[in-house]
Amino acid sequence: MIVRYGDQEVSCLVRQTGAVTDRIRIHVYPNGDVEIEAPKDKEVDHIRAAAQRRARWIFQHRNAAIAARRMALPREYISGETHFYLGRRHKLIIHESKSQRSEVKLLRGKLEVSLPVADRAAVRRRLNAWYSDRAAEYLSKKVGEISERLSWISAPPPLKLMRMRTQWGSCSPEGVIYLNPTLIRAPRHCIEYVILHELCHLIEHNHSKRFFDLLTKHMLDWQSAKRELDSLAELILAENE
Ligand SMILES: [Zn+2]
Repeated sequence: MIVRYGDQEVSCLVRQTGAVTDRIRIHVYPNGDVEIEAPKDKEVDHIRAAAQRRARWIFQHRNAAIAARRMALPREYISGETHFYLGRRHKLIIHESKSQRSEVKLLRGKLEVSLPVADRAAVRRRLNAWYSDRAAEYLSKKVGEISERLSWISAPPPLKLMRMRTQWGSCSPEGVIYLNPTLIRAPRHCIEYVILHELCHLIEHNHSKRFFDLLTKHMLDWQSAKRELDSLAELILAENE
């Protein structure tokens, strides 16, 4: 089944289910494939119209998925490739010299890694260590700053950095905030959204209306930050492999 939006079109796979429901579900896969799941008693015209109504959504997600995949090439840790830091791409420059002290510098859009022996494994290790240090410093500073603005927090909660494959953050029932250190690669406003989201969980432990009202009260445009983060997720998490 073809769905069109402007001058774009995509051939979608229609999968019929035996479910007794009125709902037509649309899935956009990371490789850009689109699948429409419809109850088997639905007319084709009805399914096509339903999919067509969501054409804008389909192409937004499909184009983002394809772009992310194109950019999420395996990291090689060689000069010239780009790495994200606080939402910006930085060109990696590697200096190798026996007399070189091991260091990473961030200068004018470039990430310069200096090492006595700069093979790929060594560059990767050094760079990841640098990202972890930056994440620890930046994220704890931000948790402190945002906590100060929130009336329900008297002192910043305990913070732990934890690599998670599918989550940016979480808040334990005991009130410990966990953040994914990979966040340091995302734009600042996206990081603030994740921190605020978790800090709101300190008093609203679920995703109830009260939770979202609280979130919105403190960050009006959190939805656009979330969307941006979602669209970057594959890219940024892939970089962290
Ligand atoms: Zn949550």
